Amino acid sequence: MSVDISGHTKLAGIIGMPLDHTLSPAMHNAAYEAVGLDWAYVPLPIAEEEHLARVVSAIRVLPFVGFNVTMPYKQSILELCDEVALTARMAGAVNAVHCSDGRLVGYNTDGRGLIDSLATDVGFDSAERDVVVLGAGGAAGAAVVSFILSKAARVTILNRTVENAEVLADRVRTHARDTEVSAVQLDDLASAVVSSADLVVNATPVGMASGDPSPIPGEWLHSGQIVADMIYAASDTPLMRAATEAGARAVDGLGMLVSQGATAIEIWSEGAQLEAPRDVMRTAAQAALERSGRRMIDAT
Ligand code: NAP
Repeated sequence: MSVDISGHTKLAGIIGMPLDHTLSPAMHNAAYEAVGLDWAYVPLPIAEEEHLARVVSAIRVLPFVGFNVTMPYKQSILELCDEVALTARMAGAVNAVHCSDGRLVGYNTDGRGLIDSLATDVGFDSAERDVVVLGAGGAAGAAVVSFILSKAARVTILNRTVENAEVLADRVRTHARDTEVSAVQLDDLASAVVSSADLVVNATPVGMASGDPSPIPGEWLHSGQIVADMIYAASDTPLMRAATEAGARAVDGLGMLVSQGATAIEIWSEGAQLEAPRDVMRTAAQAALERSGRRMIDAT
């Protein structure tokens, strides 16, 4: 894949650290080429938090259409934006910033990415359903907000540090008219909460590192459930394997990654009514994953 860069080319990129294995440049540049956008997407690794504000100031005076933000800056970018969408404020995290007329507008497209992936990949609609989210960080926040907007009946945030789950639950509860939101400690007593859920979402990084266990015991899962792991670096995580063995249906995080990126392109292209080419983006992300030689967790 080649990007034809000229003096008119607009920029996009991703801020984070580390970015060694990011799939976003491959996924975005393939999309821009496919739909004829004269944009180029570059990694912007920022080693020190203290440099974040300077980089963002530089972006303001460069021809950026927007940029993504990933770990560890999804929270600290909020205060550097001129405006932050309500869903991103509720989630407590921004993963996509639109540069519009010199203003930086923060969004969170992860939640939309998850909802789209659940609909497309496993035909799941969370309206009136019982959902469990493992984790209480930025990705969990985005997931919880998206389930509230989708009018889930119940969302339980299960987290290692229950205080962090409580902070998230308190932040979103005032917007949750149709959804009961609760915070629960992730320990052995959480088995009943997980067993009664229609959908279990892993928004922790547990399963990314080689040798990681499943974040919850497989015995808590059963057939009829959907188990979504946000991890996309592996075709089959320990949680996904446990889910499949228990008879549940498992889905990885690649569809979510593609859809959050596609939604960002649609925001950045403003009034162009452009539909980002999700199939092209998925193919490019998969190819980049294979090129990067990252471990594809596999039972064999
Ligand atoms: P984060 O803000 O750092 O939050 C991590 C959460 O995981 C925290 O609630 C933390 O609990 C919990 N956690 C961390 N290590 C744990 C462990 N060993 N045992 C139990 N809980 C643990 O991270 P994030 O940005 O939300 O990202 C979470 C995951 O989602 C990452 O794997 C990321 O790659 C993935 N993600 C995927 C997509 C996608 O498009 N597929 C998008 C966004 C994120 P404490 O509160 O106790 O510290």
